[in-house]
Amino acid sequence: MKPTTLFPFLLLGIAFATPAPAQTARTIIHAGHLIAEPGKPVRGASTIIVENGRIVSVADGHQPADLGAAVIDLKDKYVLPGLIDSHVHLTSDAGGLAGQLEEITLSPAAQAFNAEVNGMKTLRAGFTTVRNLGDGDGATLALRDAIAAGKVRGPRIVDAGNSISGSAGHMDGSLGYRDELRPFFAGAGNTCNGADDCRRAVRLQVGRGADVIKFASTGGVNSRIGAGLGKQMFDDEAKAIVDTAHMFGKKVAVHAHGADGISLAIDAGADSIEHGTILDEATIAAWAKSKTYYVPTLSTVNGYKERIAANANAYAPDVLAKIQWRIAITGQSLEQLVPRGVRIAFGTDAGVSKHGRNADEFELMVQHGMTPVAALKAATVNAADLLGLSNDIGTIAPGKSADIIAVTGDPIADVTVLKKVDFVMARGKWSIDHSRSLCREAMGRGPSA
Ligand SMILES: [Zn+2]
Repeated sequence: MKPTTLFPFLLLGIAFATPAPAQTARTIIHAGHLIAEPGKPVRGASTIIVENGRIVSVADGHQPADLGAAVIDLKDKYVLPGLIDSHVHLTSDAGGLAGQLEEITLSPAAQAFNAEVNGMKTLRAGFTTVRNLGDGDGATLALRDAIAAGKVRGPRIVDAGNSISGSAGHMDGSLGYRDELRPFFAGAGNTCNGADDCRRAVRLQVGRGADVIKFASTGGVNSRIGAGLGKQMFDDEAKAIVDTAHMFGKKVAVHAHGADGISLAIDAGADSIEHGTILDEATIAAWAKSKTYYVPTLSTVNGYKERIAANANAYAPDVLAKIQWRIAITGQSLEQLVPRGVRIAFGTDAGVSKHGRNADEFELMVQHGMTPVAALKAATVNAADLLGLSNDIGTIAPGKSADIIAVTGDPIADVTVLKKVDFVMARGKWSIDHSRSLCREAMGRGPSA
C-alpha cells in the first residue's frame, strides 16, 4: 500500500483512539424537523428520548432535559430513521480479477477485518442495518454476532451465509479456475442440482446460522462464465429452495436478471428479487400481483464504471461484455415497475459499488422514476418489512431500536442531502465522530432545552 493510500486509514485510527464521551443511559435528542415515518407528514421541532438503546418517547417541541441526561442538539437538522441497505457484501471490495485473486489469497480472518472496516464505512454513511447477501467463508456471520454482542461497532447485520445456485451457476465459486482447484470451491456445498440437493443446500446455510437465504435463478454479471443472464435453475429446484427456507422461517432473496428467472422466482414465492434487469409484460403483471419486493441495486453501474476508468483490464473479457450490457440497461426495470405498484426495497450491492457510498443509490432511484419520499420509504419502512424487522427498525417510534440519523437539509426535497450524514445513532449509541460536537451533558437542574 502506498503512503498516500494509507493516509486516510491513519486518520481513521486517530479518530478511534480518541475516547468517546461517556454515553449515559438516558439521551434526549432535540430535532429541528422529524421524519419519524417516511411517507407520513414531516413533524416540526421534536424531542426523542432514548434509554438503553430504545426509543421511549417522541414528543412535539423541545422538551427540557432532566438531570444527568445527555442532550443531542439537532435543532438545525432533519432527523430520520437509520437507513437500511438490503443488499451488500461487506467482505468484498476489490471486484473483477482483483476480487478473484482475493478469493484464493485472503483468509476468513482477513475477510473479517475487511468486513468490519466496510461495516463502519456503511454505518458512518447512515446505514444502521444491512442485509449481507453472500459470504462464502462465514466472516460476516461472525461479525454480525460480534456487533450484536457489542464487542465491535458496526451496523446491524442480517446475513445470508453462502449464496446458492446450480453448478456452473452464478454462485459456483469454481468458475474461472483451473480444474485442479475447482473441487476446493465445490467443497463449500453451496451449489445444488435437483430439488433434494437444493433442500440440502438451504439446510446447510440455515445450520451455519444464516438469517436469510439467497440464491441465483439466473446467470450473473460478475461470474466468470459466458453463459448468458437467463434462467439457470429448474422450477422444482427454485421451489425446493424457497419452501425449505420458509419452513425454517427464513426469507428468500433471489438474484435474477432475465425475465424467465424473475418469473420463476415470483412463482416459487421469493420474498425479494435482486437486480431484476429484464422484464416482459407477463412478468411485470405477475410481479404486480405478488408481494415480492424489488431490490434494484442501481449502484452497481457506478462501481463498474469507476473500476474500468481506473483500469481498463479490471475485468476478464467474458465479464466485461456483461458489464457493458448492464450499464446500458440498468434503471429501465425500475421505471417499468414503479407505476405498476411493485413494492421496492432499497439495496445497492455495495462491494460491487463502494462501501460507504450507499446513499448514491437514492439519486439513481429518483433518476429512474421514484419520488424522493418513495426512495426514502424504500430504505426505511419497506426494507424493514422485507427484513422482517418492522417491530424494531424503519421508523422512529416508542419501543423501537434507537437507530436515528440526521442530515442538513430536507431529504424529501433533495435526496442528495443523504450523501452527507451529520449524525448517526445505532441501538442508542452515537457512532460517528463529528456527532460528538452536537452532544453535551445536561448539567444541573432545570430546563436546558
Ligand atoms: Zn450482490
